[in-house]
Amino acid sequence: MALLVQKFGGTSVGTIERIEAVADKVISYRDEGHDMVVVVSAMSGETNRLVELAKQVDAQARGRELDVLLTTGEQVTIALLAMALEKRGYPARSYTGAQAKITTDSAHNKARIKSIDHEKIADDLENGRIVVVAGFQGVDEFDNITTLGRGGSDTTGVALAAALKADECQIFTDVDGVYTTDPRVVPDARRLDTITFEEMLEMASLGSKVLQIRAVEFAQKYEVPLRVLSSFEAGDGTLITSEYGTDKTMEQALISGIAFNRDEAQLTINGVSDTPGVAYRILGPISDANIEVDMILQNVSADGTTDFTFTVHRNDFDTALGSLEQTAAQLKAREVSGNNKIVKISIVGVGMRSHAGIASRMFEILANEGINILMISTSEIKISVVVDEKYLELGVRALHEGFDLRTRS
Ligand code: ADP
Ligand code: ASP
Ligand code: MG
Repeated sequence: MALLVQKFGGTSVGTIERIEAVADKVISYRDEGHDMVVVVSAMSGETNRLVELAKQVDAQARGRELDVLLTTGEQVTIALLAMALEKRGYPARSYTGAQAKITTDSAHNKARIKSIDHEKIADDLENGRIVVVAGFQGVDEFDNITTLGRGGSDTTGVALAAALKADECQIFTDVDGVYTTDPRVVPDARRLDTITFEEMLEMASLGSKVLQIRAVEFAQKYEVPLRVLSSFEAGDGTLITSEYGTDKTMEQALISGIAFNRDEAQLTINGVSDTPGVAYRILGPISDANIEVDMILQNVSADGTTDFTFTVHRNDFDTALGSLEQTAAQLKAREVSGNNKIVKISIVGVGMRSHAGIASRMFEILANEGINILMISTSEIKISVVVDEKYLELGVRALHEGFDLRTRS
């Protein structure tokens, strides 16, 4: 008998029929004698619908009231699932984030979980109830409702599993595990039996939305066994582990996966003087506007001036461009330009640590497809390139094939 935390994403609870199917699935585990805590997302499309409603009132809607609105999506699904369980004769109780005492900081729309007081949940489990918790939400110390950022129900699941010392946190979704790349872009992508936390963290941070990055961070920190599986098909899915599999071929894999991010935008300021403090004067106002900068590139200076390029989330493009234009006037820069039709493609793998030549192979594959690289950035276990958005599918597919990800096991 184990304690399992199971999280079901939006597609998995997208209709009444699917909620009923989730109830049956949860019950099948309960019947095996396991204690069950279930975390659910809003019905698919619901969070987007609520965001659109908010935008109709205020195009810049954010903060406290947006959180009050967005959390309603998950409140619907917890109640429906608990009803479906009760109807089947299984005692169940639903909890919103606040009721489950999931305390977060006060950073509305992207709050971080600070603690969970799980006494009530433990008491329910003791009394044989199935506990259903709303994903993606919490409450700050002033009783304000908060949300954890898009995809945050994964993090609710892992945080509950950590607090309850669950035997496993199982993320049920619309694919049957973590693949070498998004199977919607590369249909012959291969499912991985295992992937290391380190690689999964890189994949998530580079755009693979199958798991929210904070969920992976949390699971690694608190050593929560984490698995991604299909809501619709049987199978073992993908286990995220701290170690390599015992499988030798896995250790030899240079590249484990390819991630991409469509939400990128690039800004350039040309002809700024190459003197101390210039990078700070350019990026200071960007960070003051709460805009996160991803890649940064500064050219070697020619005739005492240099060019400076950086990338931001596409949603922040207009604000960043406005800020940069002001800075350019102060710094007497030659020109400011921007491009919000770019994407980032990254290859990830712990194996690349010990192998030279991966970067040149990546550039060769892209060159053979006539894809121009706009920016490059590397770290120990990843190489990212920025390219025009029209090359996304072509680039990802060519790299997937070029690095033999389809067939290697
Ligand atoms: P949920 O609503 O269940 O949280 P998400 O849409 O957040 O589901 O995440 C699942 C989706 O992640 C898949 O449908 C798939 O398109 C996408 N995805 C991106 N990269 C990968 C990957 N490497 N492996 C599996 N799925 C991926
Ligand atoms: N419903 C939220 C979202 O769509 C949280 C989640 O599903 O993980 O982002
Ligand atoms: Mg998700």
